[in-house]
Amino acid sequence: MAKIQMTTPLVEMDGDEMTRIIWQQIKDILLTPFIDLKTEYFDLSLVNRDATDDQVTIDSANRTRELGVAVKCATITPNAQRMEEYTLKKMWKSPNGTIRAILDGTVFRAPILVKDITPFVSCWKKPISIARHAYGDVYRDSEMLISGPAKAEILVTYPDGTIQRQLIHDFDGPGVVLGMHNLDKSISAFARSCFNYALDIHQDLWFATKDTISKTYDHRFKDIFQEIFDAEFKTAFETAGIAYFYTLIDDLVARVMRSEGGILWACKNYDGDVMSDMVASACGSLAMMTSVLVSPDGKYEYEAAHGTVTRHYYKHLKGETTSTNPMATIYAWSGALRKRGQLDQLPALVDFADLLEESSIAAIESGTITGDLASLMPKDKAHVVSTEGFLHAIAKQIYMSGRVQSESV
Ligand code: NAP
Ligand code: MG
Repeated sequence: MAKIQMTTPLVEMDGDEMTRIIWQQIKDILLTPFIDLKTEYFDLSLVNRDATDDQVTIDSANRTRELGVAVKCATITPNAQRMEEYTLKKMWKSPNGTIRAILDGTVFRAPILVKDITPFVSCWKKPISIARHAYGDVYRDSEMLISGPAKAEILVTYPDGTIQRQLIHDFDGPGVVLGMHNLDKSISAFARSCFNYALDIHQDLWFATKDTISKTYDHRFKDIFQEIFDAEFKTAFETAGIAYFYTLIDDLVARVMRSEGGILWACKNYDGDVMSDMVASACGSLAMMTSVLVSPDGKYEYEAAHGTVTRHYYKHLKGETTSTNPMATIYAWSGALRKRGQLDQLPALVDFADLLEESSIAAIESGTITGDLASLMPKDKAHVVSTEGFLHAIAKQIYMSGRVQSESV
């Protein structure tokens, strides 16, 4: 029997630890039995990033610029402890940071909502999507230890030799200093993609910074958003009956906690990092949050919002069975396959992506779940299985749908 065909390969970015194990299982159990899977494989495991001096990360992002769609597994961002664990040559930068810097754009994150799994925040009736600016700030910063009394300054040199200089701090002892940046071009692209996405999903857009404290840096974000909204989106928002609302980040957090959801929340890079984990956990589990990076020129990189689930990996290494939730990683694959299908006009591939998501939700709604969801579902209904058991339950739903042919049936 014929498998579903692909024409253009996906850029496949493999990763680390538990998610690397799940990655292979998803391919074996849910993808290759049904699809003639075409990918260009890049191994972004920490071991291979170290071996290639991180060139593999740069290559994978550049290839995404060419092919248009990538799917990424979670990866370790090394810290001091990982340096030792993996005896690394260098404390390599966050791969996601590197990929974002090459693709630019905005990360959109939305929780996967399922019947019978109730959010911890009881007033949230509708999903809260987060739009995270994917460029600059602390993720592309320059940091320094100050060893003793010293004067730290910002120094900017223009091509004509003009100099701008500003005191950061007169140190009377050791300390730390940090310099960061952003670009009008990137902030504008971020603003436009948020306004467009809000119109797409027909939800109000909320945006916040700390412009009362950061009177130049954060204020620039606020001004650019307002200028672009007034000039390009005001009428479209009025016609659609949705609103753009700006306030301070602390005020916004308070409002979100009291809201019923159904909003797109635009966040600066760091705020989006933190707030998406908060929204994901409050909606059930970190493992139920999807994530896609959309570049201003329409390149897509799909991934899970969570990390490599280290604690579960160490259990796995000891030979214990784990019940790690693969939902967000499955949605990374379905998102990428759907986008590839749309771009290459392959309706069968788009349909398979829909079926994969529907089958995953159907498995959970039938009561078959991973451990992280156990406390959120009525006890008499929940049947906790291993990661592999859960993937097989999804495969069963796919077979039962009668919508695909498989060589392995
Ligand atoms: P994490 O891997 O997201 O895990 C944090 C905790 O959340 C886990 O210990 C687990 O809780 C729960 N969890 C997350 N995903 C889960 C899943 N799929 N199923 C079940 N439970 C899940 O975050 P972390 O421990 O802070 O980071 C681990 C590594 O991931 C780090 O090296 C970090 O650099 C990396 N990281 C990568 C990315 C990325 O590539 N996008 C993002 C974040 C972090 P319990 O232990 O209580 O079960
Ligand atoms: Mg994070």
